[in-house]
Amino acid sequence: MEEKDYIKLLDRARSMVPADAFNRQRFEVPVMDVIKEGPTTLIRNFLKVAEYINREPQELLKFILGETATSGSLDGQRALLKGTFPAKKIGQLLQRYVDAYVICPTCKKPDTRIDKEGRRPVLICQACGSRNPIRVKS
Ligand SMILES: [Zn+2]
Repeated sequence: MEEKDYIKLLDRARSMVPADAFNRQRFEVPVMDVIKEGPTTLIRNFLKVAEYINREPQELLKFILGETATSGSLDGQRALLKGTFPAKKIGQLLQRYVDAYVICPTCKKPDTRIDKEGRRPVLICQACGSRNPIRVKS
């Protein structure tokens, strides 16, 4: 095989792999920038975190509010929670969210999306193609 043919083949193979698979190799759960402000807790980089893990900010917020049994809202880049929660607790919740809703249980890659099978949410992996029901560990 000539070299230019080989390169063409390589290009074709590469174009069939989702682009994300290349730049998300070193996926790490991001660190939430949490501060207390009076009776509320602010997560200052909330939108960035949601973007990085490739999930809707509203969905991530809903999860955190459910787990902390409080109310809150999005405010620009930030999320506000009623009540004071230590950064460590918020970090643990994010870790649980990522484990359940982002990381593929089969291949451990983060290149996934959420779909529904009937009423049950499933995690569909774009890296290995597997489908897994979403389970949040308590
Ligand atoms: Zn997978």
